[in-house]
Amino acid sequence: MHFFEYKNGDLCCEDVPITTIVEATETPVYIYSHKTLERHFIVFDDAFKGIPHLTCYSCKANSNIAILRTIGRLGGGADIVSGGELYRALYAHIPGKKIVFSGVGKTEKEIKSAIESDILMINVESEDEMTSVAKVARRMRKKVPLSIRVNPQIDPKTHPYITTGLKKNKFGVLWDDAYRLYKQIGKDQHLQPIGISSHIGSQILELAPFIDAVKSLKEMVLQLKSDGISLKYIDIGGGLGITYKDELPPHPEDYAKVIERELKGTGITLILEPGRVLVGNSGIFITKLLYVKKTQGKTFYIVDGAMNDLVRPALYGAYHDIIPVKEKSDKEITVDVVGPICESGDFLAKDRDLPILEPGVLLAVLGAGAYGFSMSSNYNSRKRVTEVLVKGKEFFVIRKRETLRDLIKGESIPSFLEV
Ligand SMILES: *Cc1c(COP(=O)(O)O)cnc(C)c1O
Repeated sequence: MHFFEYKNGDLCCEDVPITTIVEATETPVYIYSHKTLERHFIVFDDAFKGIPHLTCYSCKANSNIAILRTIGRLGGGADIVSGGELYRALYAHIPGKKIVFSGVGKTEKEIKSAIESDILMINVESEDEMTSVAKVARRMRKKVPLSIRVNPQIDPKTHPYITTGLKKNKFGVLWDDAYRLYKQIGKDQHLQPIGISSHIGSQILELAPFIDAVKSLKEMVLQLKSDGISLKYIDIGGGLGITYKDELPPHPEDYAKVIERELKGTGITLILEPGRVLVGNSGIFITKLLYVKKTQGKTFYIVDGAMNDLVRPALYGAYHDIIPVKEKSDKEITVDVVGPICESGDFLAKDRDLPILEPGVLLAVLGAGAYGFSMSSNYNSRKRVTEVLVKGKEFFVIRKRETLRDLIKGESIPSFLEV
């Protein structure tokens, strides 16, 4: 459910017509609905109210500070994967004690910042990384709460690029190694084993892989308990899928039910790291049709948005619905919607049936709230676009479009090249 719909033929975000926003910001622009995001968070978080839990939003899905603040205000925490995301989460007033730190390659600097910020736990992903944490902790004379990310070797049946829990993936630690590491942690006076985590992939559309994962984590917790190591947290990661086209992802309540069933009465606190399911359908990407180009047997809608702004179609062959901002339901043609970038991979849609449109019209790319702006780049020296947050009848620019100056920020011409 979301709050993007046509009102009298005009696509609106909540109570604001998209055209009103575009008059103020030009295109391309990302537009997020506060009400949708709030609703998604509450539905997800409430689904787990039967057990102690903490919902740590996965910042990488969309790390704008206004989005993080929205989540924080609702009581959410953050799952971060870099020092940059730590900075953003703290800036948005998410308390350190609600932050978990994932990722395979944390640097000593990042580990130090995380310890200084007194975060809930660091999810380590290898023995070497654990050694690094121990080293930094010793230097700082701190005892650091740790979790090991295990690789439960579960196939979530999603796109290979977004699968993370298979043996061949770089993520997590295999079962036997994890068991051995927990015993090692237990002996280190600067490390405190408090949790176990996993994240098996993204855009997962079935419950079975999650059930397998949580069972596997619980088994480790029980085994460790009998060895005298007691863990307080099970972190089951993120990965719940959403509808882009015709997918039928599990409802958060059904997802919660199967996980609760495993954890109820264990005294374990559950940590969740949802990203896409919270923000994906809370955002759209607006682009303008520049030209209609016909070649033999093919029609291209050339738009002002490109793969640098929204890379998912190019990167994963991902499908995003595209609809005109002014409702149009007449004759359709099959087109490729492509951007101006000098790459054949620069497309937003291929062989898509869209209405016959004239240059100048606005198109809305739906489901663009997750891994949209956060994956954008300056490729082809394109300015990263404006982001807008809508709340009811009002809208707020939460990130300005970059300027030409921004494009060369930090660059310099050495003196020997000076004119
Ligand atoms: C990316 C990621 C998530 C969020 O995944 P979604 O599919 O967006 O829910 C959660 N945890 C970790 C460790 C991640 O890397």
